[in-house]
Amino acid sequence: MSIAENLKQIQERISAAALRSGRNPDDVRLVAVSKTQSADAVKEAVRAGQLLFGENYVQEFTAKAEALSEPVEWHFIGSLQSNKVKQLVGLVTMIHSVDRFSLAQEISRQWGRGGKNCDILLEVNIAGETTKGGTTGDDLLELTREVAELPHLRIMGLMTMPPFFDDPEGARPYFRELHRLAGVITAAEIPGVRMQELSMGMSGDFEAAIQEGATLVRVGSALFGERIYARS
Ligand SMILES: *Cc1c(COP(=O)(O)O)cnc(C)c1O
Repeated sequence: MSIAENLKQIQERISAAALRSGRNPDDVRLVAVSKTQSADAVKEAVRAGQLLFGENYVQEFTAKAEALSEPVEWHFIGSLQSNKVKQLVGLVTMIHSVDRFSLAQEISRQWGRGGKNCDILLEVNIAGETTKGGTTGDDLLELTREVAELPHLRIMGLMTMPPFFDDPEGARPYFRELHRLAGVITAAEIPGVRMQELSMGMSGDFEAAIQEGATLVRVGSALFGERIYARS
């Protein structure tokens, strides 16, 4: 199937999942995860109507962004080293993977140099997997309070990447937990912090994530096909 056909199917599945759970389909945005995909594949998705993309690797991303003249919006979703943050300034509108204060500090510093603010999500590693980034559920509230003090970023919500399950239902408790944690933070009424975005759900489980409140679903292989090479 072509990217355009895949996109149409995914959009239909997003709408259906939203409607099934009594939600407005417009409240769920598709982040097309284009890591390892060529600039041409991104262009094909743009021609099919997709304008929001997610990337994981700074070097690969900046080269791809340069190769495109299309008016696309980029989110950074991968694990991020502080020394690479400056390369993202002016290129991305949101960073989903902020999991420590030092990284948030550097984002605030780099965006501040241009007099701008960066929208971020705090990444939560709910299962506590050591191979993945993310703060723990226990540390999240404190991290949120600290990051909220930084001048040049805005906390817009939370992101998670659950352990892998063959059955999408396996991920559901993690999606539910992320939603619950967003409620805990909302209740803490930290100035400037909004819990309007929940970034959760990938190719294998985005419908369950939408039923549990996802506002951003990050879908790669279901749109572009299986990745040719896997990294990290
Ligand atoms: C690769 C990736 C995705 C997309 O995964 P698929 O299973 O290909 O849809 C989503 N989120 C993150 C953080 C990723 O690294």
